[in-house]
Amino acid sequence: MATEYEVTIGLETHIQLNTVTKAFCGCKADSWNDAPNTNICPTCAGLPGSLPATNQAMVEKGLRLCLAMNSEVNLTSLFDRKNYMYADLPSGYQVTQDTRPIGVGGYLDFNMDDGREIRVHIHNLHMEEDAGKTKNEGGVRLIDMNRCGVPLIEMVTMPDLHSADEAATYLMKLRQLLRWIGVSEANMERAHLRCDANVSIAPKGSKELGKRCEIKNINSIEAVRSAITNEVQRQIREVEAGNKIEQWTIEWDNDAQVLRKMRSKETAADYRYFHEPNLMPVVISPEFYEEVRKSMPELPRAKRARFMDELGLPAYDASILTADRETSEFFEMACGLYGGDTKRVSNWMMNEVLRVVNEKGVSLAELPIRAEDLVEIIKLVDAKTINTSTGKSLVDKVLETGKKPGDIVRELGLGLVSDEGAIREVCRKIVDGNPKEVAAYRGGKETLIGWFVGQVMKEMRGKADPEMAKATKFVDRKSVV
Ligand code: ADP
Ligand code: MG
Ligand code: ZN
Repeated sequence: MATEYEVTIGLETHIQLNTVTKAFCGCKADSWNDAPNTNICPTCAGLPGSLPATNQAMVEKGLRLCLAMNSEVNLTSLFDRKNYMYADLPSGYQVTQDTRPIGVGGYLDFNMDDGREIRVHIHNLHMEEDAGKTKNEGGVRLIDMNRCGVPLIEMVTMPDLHSADEAATYLMKLRQLLRWIGVSEANMERAHLRCDANVSIAPKGSKELGKRCEIKNINSIEAVRSAITNEVQRQIREVEAGNKIEQWTIEWDNDAQVLRKMRSKETAADYRYFHEPNLMPVVISPEFYEEVRKSMPELPRAKRARFMDELGLPAYDASILTADRETSEFFEMACGLYGGDTKRVSNWMMNEVLRVVNEKGVSLAELPIRAEDLVEIIKLVDAKTINTSTGKSLVDKVLETGKKPGDIVRELGLGLVSDEGAIREVCRKIVDGNPKEVAAYRGGKETLIGWFVGQVMKEMRGKADPEMAKATKFVDRKSVV
């Protein structure tokens, strides 16, 4: 019988913080649109004699992430130099945290799509600076130092993940959390969120973990899935061929969808870490800690649970409505204003508002609709001032014009016509114009009533009160006869 293997994965994520300036100098942190080497200064370009100073906003965002990850916070943490030579690292060392990082331990809980609950433990969180970028162009190696000194948090998980799917889901939940607490844009395509995956296999039931390989350069959720899946298959092939797994560093080539060996694993000793002499210890005062703790929002998982327990939403709705913070707050506000059936608000939110958000590919915050607008629309429908389909199109009209729903209804005359005289007139016209259907109806084909109501609605461009068109019997047997 073939051996069954247990897959083990630990992730090292690099998170680019969305501070205004870089970690240790006054240069802009975000230089996505800038020409190469235009956003640098002596400090981040690593010129001798320049002195760094710690950006307090980086510390605050680091602390927020520690709190969100349930990590223990070191109120005094230290910066160290990690020494290595590479073209994109002009100073010859990376400022990072080694012996005393800002956060130790912690965990992230999440559910897989099938409902399975997973807890991933965190080894540590440390603040560090990013390196520049290199690329090959026409046989020349080019260096862009704009990204040098951009603040990062590196967060290392324990080997708690056991499939490519779990690793991908963890990253999606982390991305959601980072945006939610406002510390990173977490856009993987822009490398705000990067991840290295450590992968090993061992026969099922064995107590010891296998030797791990580290895959670098994974920059999308799909790439996480493919790279890990490929590496697991490679390791199984090796083991089944009687070979030992060696501890390699491997690169994922996303274009070719293949793994390439980069080097044998370096050890910590190779980096000759030592304390960074130009920077003071990072001290978080108890007052600052409290201030940041108090400013933390309710986190997505807690909110999702509350939407189910307190607002009675199904798990599916609760997940969608807590996908991002703006959506969840919009929904809560709408529920408060509406004061009635939360599922009704949820349906309008998911089917209409989020439909437009998805169509336009923007975030809800960028759209000119507010919770009170949606509630006004639902109430107009409840009051039968407009029908449901007019309500739906009103969502689009509010988004196009930024006007209030009530004003649009008045300006465009979208209100339902409940005027008996007007409806009767249209009914007469439909009856006169369709003698064949009238004959069939008289002959007993009563289901045609729906067709008559439909014709009336069409004629009145959806504005007839359908209940009235039926109930007032303008189109019923008597009037037709
Ligand atoms: P390094 O600094 O050499 O990259 P770390 O101790 O920081 O090593 O660990 C890197 C990652 O490797 C962590 O996320 C950890 O959970 C993971 N890891 C450790 N051992 C294994 C293993 N046997 N299989 C899979 N992942 C592992
Ligand atoms: Mg590593
Ligand atoms: Zn600079």
